[in-house]
Amino acid sequence: MKIRKAQLEKIAVNKKQYPSPHLPEIAFAGRSNVGKSSFINSMVNRKDLARISGKPGKTRTINFYNINDQFRFVDLPGYGYAKVSKAEKEKWGPIIEEYLSNRENLIEVILLVDMRHEPTELDLMMYNWIKFFGYSGLVIATKADKISKGKYQSNINMIKNKLNIEDPELIIPYSSAKNINKDLVWKILEDKLLI
Ligand code: GDP
Repeated sequence: MKIRKAQLEKIAVNKKQYPSPHLPEIAFAGRSNVGKSSFINSMVNRKDLARISGKPGKTRTINFYNINDQFRFVDLPGYGYAKVSKAEKEKWGPIIEEYLSNRENLIEVILLVDMRHEPTELDLMMYNWIKFFGYSGLVIATKADKISKGKYQSNINMIKNKLNIEDPELIIPYSSAKNINKDLVWKILEDKLLI
């Protein structure tokens, strides 16, 4: 994928603030610190387009990134950060739900989980939501460079079992640090975007 433009277009907390729906959108969900900003940056070859969080859990916004004036990447608020208040913790849910249930130009929602660890209950809840809204259930397993290739299969199985995924091919190991599977993910996204 040739990236000619990658630009933060809009930061929103509710639907009144979303940008116009004339471009297709692909959204990314995951817990704080899972590597979502790094994933977006690596996919579009930018070091600091999405903020790599010094303070995880502080962003309660939906960030819309315009890519090539062709489509958008949408960074949903990270969840599950331990060091915030209960009230603060609960904000991500309604923000994400409002977006998922009101966005006609949203073509795919992808869950990011850390490949090293079993997904959490919140990951399972998020994944069930994504399925409920009719999306395919693609999972990016981040930080794949931190485990050996020999452990890929067992860790994919761990994710598959926790999230009740039938088709293990939906789970794609990824590394932003080493660009593992970047071309594969672009190919999948290009197919979905019909570009
Ligand atoms: P976010 O909170 O989900 O946006 O997560 P960040 O992108 O800020 O990443 C959280 C931490 O994980 C940072 O210290 C990143 O450098 C690190 N990280 C993210 N992706 C990778 C990866 O693919 N490999 C390695 N080794 N570290 C990563």
